[in-house]
Amino acid sequence: MTPAASAEACDLVVYGAYLVTVDHERRIFADGAIAVAGRRIVGIGSVRDVRSRWRGAREIDVHGALLHPGFVECHMHISIHAGRNAITEPVTWESQQRFYSGLWNAIEDEDEYVGSRLACLELALHGATAFMECGTVHQPDAVAKAAEEVGIRAVLGDPFVWDQGGFGGRGDKSPPVFRAPSNEQRAFAVLGGQLFRNSDPTALVQGHVAIIGMATCSEALTLEAKALARRHSVVLNQHQSYGQEDAIEDAARFGKPAMVRFKELSILDERTTFAHMNALDDAEVAAMTNTGMSVVWCPLASMMYGVGATTSGKHFQLSQCGCNVALGSDSPNYTGRFDTGAQAFAAILASREQARSADALKAEDGLVMATINGAKAIGMADRIGSLEVGKLADFVVRRRDIVESVPRTNRIQNLIYSSRSKGIDTVVVNGRIIVESGNSTTVDLERVLHTAQASSDRVLARMGFRVQDTWPVIRS
Ligand SMILES: [Zn+2]
Repeated sequence: MTPAASAEACDLVVYGAYLVTVDHERRIFADGAIAVAGRRIVGIGSVRDVRSRWRGAREIDVHGALLHPGFVECHMHISIHAGRNAITEPVTWESQQRFYSGLWNAIEDEDEYVGSRLACLELALHGATAFMECGTVHQPDAVAKAAEEVGIRAVLGDPFVWDQGGFGGRGDKSPPVFRAPSNEQRAFAVLGGQLFRNSDPTALVQGHVAIIGMATCSEALTLEAKALARRHSVVLNQHQSYGQEDAIEDAARFGKPAMVRFKELSILDERTTFAHMNALDDAEVAAMTNTGMSVVWCPLASMMYGVGATTSGKHFQLSQCGCNVALGSDSPNYTGRFDTGAQAFAAILASREQARSADALKAEDGLVMATINGAKAIGMADRIGSLEVGKLADFVVRRRDIVESVPRTNRIQNLIYSSRSKGIDTVVVNGRIIVESGNSTTVDLERVLHTAQASSDRVLARMGFRVQDTWPVIRS
């Protein structure tokens, strides 16, 4: 059908979609449409209802393709693609710490921009429309520039807020990160430096309060960061309990398990987001119960290093007891690629392996964790994460012409189990089409790849790092 003669003008109407809203009632419109004016959704529902009301400057018929809210990536070291797959396996905790402190000492602002641009493009091409960076970029402006160029939504943290040693805590023997030494004076000085970005709540790049966590932050620093986040109604975000090592170090300094101590300090609430959380005991789960805090599960990032979270982690349990479980990809060497849908699939499988039953997380849970739960975890559930009138227009249309998209039976199972991140057709962020027919509309792919390769070569050379071949390579 064509728009009604009385229809109001708007910028974009996408119609003929199998439209999964992930709204409160989890409504799906089998023949759905979405209308966008400026940055916001102004109409959603059946094609008949939306097109009787709205006429788009651009109208796209997607012929029955699946349309869903964009994925929200909640734990991300966005700027260090220069070091992806550079460390030859097997990788130890110590060799990684040495590599990363070397990388963070060698990387310059231009490399952070170029690496972030590659990562932002990778996210968009995998159906992510927003990400939260966890506070490990020296120059957040470089990431803001990359995100704006690609057109993806970003929530940025301050650079390296820590005061108790490096990533291995006080026992960390790796060289310090010279641009961001771990000390109280610097940590308190940089805290809150990204909040200026929030004056326009619809702007593409926002700020939050990030500290490194994972045994690297004093109680005083953590309390100050939480107070600041409260004053500005943003999330406090940190790493926590990636593995037994940092959990034990935290328990030793607090005299009790970390989450029990954080509960006593009144830090755990709906605007608290801790990433990883692989090594928790039952007392910690009890402390977190019904706090509404967010846990960013990065299942592939723990499986990569064999930390045992699929067998002993508590993520599924947390999802059942009043915590908001969202998903993250962590860093390029911890996951291999930035693909939130892959994390959803892995989380579902991990929950079933642990339960020894298929009656654990389901495909719908995967989509919820990757969308509205992610929006909560980054402090933006009032603006993104589901498709509703008034929210910002961040959504994805899937292709119908890949082999995994057929047959069209249970469409959500098809999305999470079969198509996954393959088959992204159109990505809209803040009302702007940033991917169309599977290609970026905003940046030149060749140029992004070329500059990222050149940056990686430069950074590794500055580090004096040579990539080792494991098998004999004949070069002539
Ligand atoms: Zn991390």
